Amino acid sequence: MQALVKSTAGPGLELRDVPEPEMGIDDVRIRVHKTGICGTDLHIADWDGWAQKTIHPPLIVGHEFVGEVLEVGSNVRDLAPGDVVSGEGHVVCGRCRHCRAGRWHLCANTVGLGVQRDGAFAEQVVLPVTNVWHHWPGIDEEVAAIFDPFGNAVHTALAFPVLGEDVLVVGAGPIGLMAIAVARHAGARFIVASEPNATRRDLAKTMGATLVVDPARRDLKDAQRELGMVEGFDVVFEMSGNPDALRGALANMAHGAGIAILGIPTQEIPIDVSRIVFDQLRLQGIYGREMYETWYKMSVMLKSGLDLTPVITHRFGYRDFEAAFAAARTGSSGKVVMDWTT
Ligand code: NAD
Ligand code: ZN
Repeated sequence: MQALVKSTAGPGLELRDVPEPEMGIDDVRIRVHKTGICGTDLHIADWDGWAQKTIHPPLIVGHEFVGEVLEVGSNVRDLAPGDVVSGEGHVVCGRCRHCRAGRWHLCANTVGLGVQRDGAFAEQVVLPVTNVWHHWPGIDEEVAAIFDPFGNAVHTALAFPVLGEDVLVVGAGPIGLMAIAVARHAGARFIVASEPNATRRDLAKTMGATLVVDPARRDLKDAQRELGMVEGFDVVFEMSGNPDALRGALANMAHGAGIAILGIPTQEIPIDVSRIVFDQLRLQGIYGREMYETWYKMSVMLKSGLDLTPVITHRFGYRDFEAAFAAARTGSSGKVVMDWTT
């Protein structure tokens, strides 16, 4: 089969023929139809410091996908060939304290698809059945391809109640953009998006932001004034990983407000802890998705009118992976989807 492989410890990816993945009795073999490109894939392709520490080539990359079941292991009862599925990219151990308590998203032994095990940028991928999400009928296939980052957005956006609240979204990359739509769908009042890139600010408006701000040009206090806000944001989604952005957000939160932090910083960030104490702020780190409550909520929201399609801005055949990765690198794109069937 064809697969996009990190062949050696260095920059670049290679499209090449590899053997079909092997199956166990609890596994599902999936014919991949469409995949989404994540920042993680760019890090692995570019071979940055994180990738050098984390990735052991050869490795098939990629974890955002939709496909169709080809074959199930002898232990698998509730999936059959032809079913349309996506995969939860975090493969958990099933044996640690949290796994045994059903809190799989807290597993300390999580293995990442396309990071620590062969991934989905290939004609086929194999996953344990416990990692396979059977899509509900009528879910758009392109949207199904990005359920993994959509799950990041939902897990972040619903970490604190947003109904009737004023929300600040810091960073309108693909995940921030989806989180804006989720907060709108879940009944937020004002949604302010802070994002340096003009194309992404426009997309943020399309997804339902009340007001968009270029952090280089406009202070968040000023944005609050324009909206008639006086006490700060009730909920913040930190989706940039940027130190100044995090500090700016902390300085604009209402007393008792919550900040859900998804963005991954590349350095330590000094913050004023006394602000957290006196303002009684709540900080919540977000990693991955809840298995499988987040997936359930994603499906319900799509079925009840949430529209993510504007987030998908670029489409390529898998043979044009270099153009697809270049589009994802611009910083102006939404989600970039590759088709593995053409
Ligand atoms: P992205 O890099 O496309 O988006 C980040 C956005 O932040 C960009 O649009 C960028 O212009 C913007 N930004 C940069 N500086 C800013 C500033 N000072 N103020 C406001 N915005 C600023 O990434 P993405 O795919 O949308 O993911 C969002 C973040 O979440 C990234 O940091 C990513 O690494 C992280 N992530 C975390 C998880 C997890 O499980 N915790 C999973 C996926 C992604
Ligand atoms: Zn575990």
